[in-house]
Amino acid sequence: MKAAVFHKPGSPLTIEQVSIGKPGPREVLVRTVAVGMCHSDLHFVDGLYPFPAPVVLGHEAAGVVEAVGSDVHTVKPGDHVVTCLSAFCGHCAHCVTGHLSLCVSPETKRGPEEAPRLSLAQKPMVQFVNLSAYAEQMLVHENALVAINRDMPLDRAALLGCAVTTGTGAVFNTAKVRPGDTVVIIGCGGIGLSAVNGAALAGASRIIAVDKLDSKLELARVFGATDLVNPNNGDPVQQVLELTRGGVHHAFECIGLKQTAEQAFGMLARGGTATIIGMLKPGTRLDIDPYALLHERRIQGSFMGSNRFPVDLPNLVNFYMQGRLKLDQLISQRIRLEQINEGFDELRRGELARSVIVFDQ
Ligand code: ZN
Ligand code: ZN
Repeated sequence: MKAAVFHKPGSPLTIEQVSIGKPGPREVLVRTVAVGMCHSDLHFVDGLYPFPAPVVLGHEAAGVVEAVGSDVHTVKPGDHVVTCLSAFCGHCAHCVTGHLSLCVSPETKRGPEEAPRLSLAQKPMVQFVNLSAYAEQMLVHENALVAINRDMPLDRAALLGCAVTTGTGAVFNTAKVRPGDTVVIIGCGGIGLSAVNGAALAGASRIIAVDKLDSKLELARVFGATDLVNPNNGDPVQQVLELTRGGVHHAFECIGLKQTAEQAFGMLARGGTATIIGMLKPGTRLDIDPYALLHERRIQGSFMGSNRFPVDLPNLVNFYMQGRLKLDQLISQRIRLEQINEGFDELRRGELARSVIVFDQ
């Protein structure tokens, strides 16, 4: 099958033939229909996070089931599915206490003694986050995907696999925003806009969007933002403290920078919680005034929206079908796999909400 292969930071991805295995007892072979280009893939392409190469990146995908292993019961050939990088085993301490996205069991991967799922020129390739989605096909554990309503367009469904689950899940599951809460969202890319939409669904009384690009702020308004703050017009922390007369219940950082993570904490009212969704460079140290903790301010991480994706994703599909979850506006361009390097250039420029790679049908 055709796949975009990453060899090393600084050199473009190349389209190559990659071999894919047959489904094992609990595995599913999926024909990829659409895959979103997420900023975290760019972190690997640019060498910010090391990963063994060559590798097929990509982790925000939707497709159609082609074949299933003998013990797969949750999906069947022909089903439309969305994949999720937080594959879960279903019986470890994290899973049985409802924290599926924190599962670290290796059993959803293939062991070192087994044939690899992917190989390039007869050499085994490590699968990227159980998925490797920049490819015509994916071979995944059945607990790495969920079947969805067939009326759901698959290019938009793909976004549920990362950005939208991450953004809405941080609001619903990690921070548990309540009706009437005040919320600030820093960074209005795919994840930030999804967090804005999630806050609107959760009934937040005020949703303050922060971004340096006015075009993204206007988009945030469409997703439900009630107030817009551009840091080019002055210190964003001061702007938010003035707007809210003392800070918000919830701040969400959706970029992955030290400065904006510290700003998120600085925007909190007493008892408020800052949720850091963006991927900060490992080793980064945050400067937080401990005096602010005295009044029960909190700062926490959120991984993949603390999702329970077999439940959350079909809900998000329903929200979209009802017109309450905006996905159409998240897609700024549809491109072919061959244009993947141009897609990464767009991500580096940071102007577009999201590029989605669509495969030939
Ligand atoms: Zn992602
Ligand atoms: Zn588990």
